[in-house]
Amino acid sequence: MLTINLAAIQSNWLKLQNIGANAKVAGVIKANAYGLGADQVGNALYQVGCREFFFASIDEALAGRFFLPSDTTIYVLGGIQVGDEPLLVESNLIPVLSSLSAIDRWVKVVTSLGSNASSAIKINTGMTRFGLDVWEFESLFNDKNLLRAINPVLLMSHLACADEQAHPLNQRQLSQFSNCVQLMRPLFPNIRYSLSNSSGIFLGDKWHFDLVRPGAALYGINPLPNSSNPMLSVLHLSLPIVQVRKLAAEEAIGYGSSVTLPAGSRVAVVSGGYADGLHRSLGFQPEGILNGKLVRAIGRMSMDSTIFDISAIDLPGDQLLGESIDVINSSLSLEYLSKKNSSLGYEILTSLGARFKRKYVHSDHHV
Ligand SMILES: *Cc1c(COP(=O)(O)O)cnc(C)c1O
Repeated sequence: MLTINLAAIQSNWLKLQNIGANAKVAGVIKANAYGLGADQVGNALYQVGCREFFFASIDEALAGRFFLPSDTTIYVLGGIQVGDEPLLVESNLIPVLSSLSAIDRWVKVVTSLGSNASSAIKINTGMTRFGLDVWEFESLFNDKNLLRAINPVLLMSHLACADEQAHPLNQRQLSQFSNCVQLMRPLFPNIRYSLSNSSGIFLGDKWHFDLVRPGAALYGINPLPNSSNPMLSVLHLSLPIVQVRKLAAEEAIGYGSSVTLPAGSRVAVVSGGYADGLHRSLGFQPEGILNGKLVRAIGRMSMDSTIFDISAIDLPGDQLLGESIDVINSSLSLEYLSKKNSSLGYEILTSLGARFKRKYVHSDHHV
């Protein structure tokens, strides 16, 4: 069971709104809200006041247009693929235009449709992924009619090292972006500006501009990896025990007979294996908590199940059926797990498999 605390996600958003002060806080709910459920998360954020949402692909954004209230602004981050443009216009989705060719295509389509659909422009200030290089952006000012035709409402860039507060690139990206803002402002007095992801919000007011774009921090990932996590943890993953066995003799465990346990040991087989994304997120032999005690997976993980050594737990087997082993909770936190397995909180969340039963809780009680 994957339990997702929507109230904690709401508190996290409100906390960022507090820090963001004068900036508006969007919700980045791409990749199914980092695996937690874009519909549920998006609507929970809406309830506390979030009105702007970012998705990665047009398919995600079209789904979002359907499940989010109509007074929301939806941006599509991943650039636009050739041929997507008319659907974006029709569905009132704002493309983040990230190259001159994307801008050209957008102009052609909106002109031929006679539409004044809005767009966002993304500049590359140091991430070197999506976005116009600064000189390309400057070249747009040679053709102001073109720039007006794409009706930009947001100018944005993306920080590459915001989670390392002292990294010199933060300051360089800020000043490059500020130069672009200076260029844009006289021509489009009402356009808004956006630079920061979760960690960027914690760099200080100068990085906030009009709109900040947190994803990770909403979901409890620490935006400040070198200090204690200011965000609430929002999820809890527990794997149901489906079989308990006591070994009559020394036995090998699992595929490849890679380990043996002595006679008298007890193992619990739980539902959940590498097909559920556990391989990446929790290490090859996940730790778990059962009945308040630490237990450890043993042998190779299977596709659909994992075996835990529960010799230290003295409850009778039939009492354990129906119990679950926690593998992510407030003590086996995203931060602890990602450090231990040299992974990322982002990867842990986005690899959580679709097969887990998801339960959404709306209250503030702890998960
Ligand atoms: C994913 C993404 C974000 C959110 O980043 P977090 O680190 O999860 O807060 C913000 N902006 C852009 C452009 C992104 O691609």
